[in-house]
Amino acid sequence: MRFCYRCGISESEGGPLIDGLCQICYRKENPVLLIEGEINTELCGNCGSYKKRGVWVDPHSYELEELIFEVADNALLETIGDSLDERIREFKIVHFDELEETVELPVGKALVAFRPIDWHIEYFPAIITYEVRVKAKTHELQRELHDEAKKVTVYVRQTVCPRCSKFLGGYFEAILQVRAEDRPLTEEERKAIGKLVEDKVDEIMRRDRMGFIQDTIEKEEGLDFYMGSTSSARKLAQAIRERFGGTISEAYELVGVDRQTSREVYRTSVSVRIPKFQKGDLVTDRHGNVYEVERVDGKGMGMRNLATLESEHRDWKTIKREGMDVVEGEISEAMVTSITPTEVQLMDMQTYETYELGRPPMELREGEVYRMVEVRGRKYFLGRKE
Ligand SMILES: [Zn+2]
Ligand SMILES: [Zn+2]
Repeated sequence: MRFCYRCGISESEGGPLIDGLCQICYRKENPVLLIEGEINTELCGNCGSYKKRGVWVDPHSYELEELIFEVADNALLETIGDSLDERIREFKIVHFDELEETVELPVGKALVAFRPIDWHIEYFPAIITYEVRVKAKTHELQRELHDEAKKVTVYVRQTVCPRCSKFLGGYFEAILQVRAEDRPLTEEERKAIGKLVEDKVDEIMRRDRMGFIQDTIEKEEGLDFYMGSTSSARKLAQAIRERFGGTISEAYELVGVDRQTSREVYRTSVSVRIPKFQKGDLVTDRHGNVYEVERVDGKGMGMRNLATLESEHRDWKTIKREGMDVVEGEISEAMVTSITPTEVQLMDMQTYETYELGRPPMELREGEVYRMVEVRGRKYFLGRKE
């Protein structure tokens, strides 16, 4: 007959013995929940982020009470994961009900339930006390599962995350410059770009926490965005080019030497230059065709040939190859005085001079006034005066 060496009970009564211990003494001598009674954690008082497995992440909720519980739950869970006995190879978080009902588990598996039972979260540090209960099996011969409970208090303190400390300190890594070719940005473009950048930064910040805008500077010629990360500046430049067309270039400026690594520190300027063309511009190509720009986008321009009055879309490559450029046109108004199958006679509404033009492929009516434009000595119909 064998006996438990700790309490002396016989194997037939308290067994089977495991490593010389009865069932009860085995469980007592081999606790599985090795968690300390206190856990300290912190969240950024500026942005609400907190450390998850050592990495700062944004919270799911910015509502303060939910946020504090989110941070405390996370710290508790991470600590539980780190403080289960090494024989536990796998654990699962379950509700207390499920834990209650569980009477058998495979060796090496644990079920964990936790719930807050007391909290003071009106000011920092926020203090939340949890009840943690674990059931587990660590040995084949166990008749009953380990069943342990503990109270754990989590202290949530406020700090400033590295990102916010850089942001609050005025840090930036790159400058995104938005310009237009050969002209300043228009008010309309400034607004559209500002909105685009704002939306895109929200999206970027979900992956790149340093992608923030430190500052926006309105310049006469365009906009400067001071960015927390170079990759964020690049992504914004691409988004702007996709919408407006244009070219992107980068320049680097030596701004100093890192005292810790003795490495030279460069600041990147990412420039996006949108095309000079705007809706309403008159443009010519190298064949002498004249167009009115109807639309400008990332792919190219929609424009109307003023001789054929047909609309076409040209991509930026073609626009460049065709040497398209803006031309000045002189706008006037003229009344159609007579129409023949091939010609139209008009009278200028300002000078009352009459002139003739080839009949354009559009419907004309005698006595009606039309908007005209003269480009390089040739007049074109723009449309009927409204
Ligand atoms: Zn015993
Ligand atoms: Zn922060």
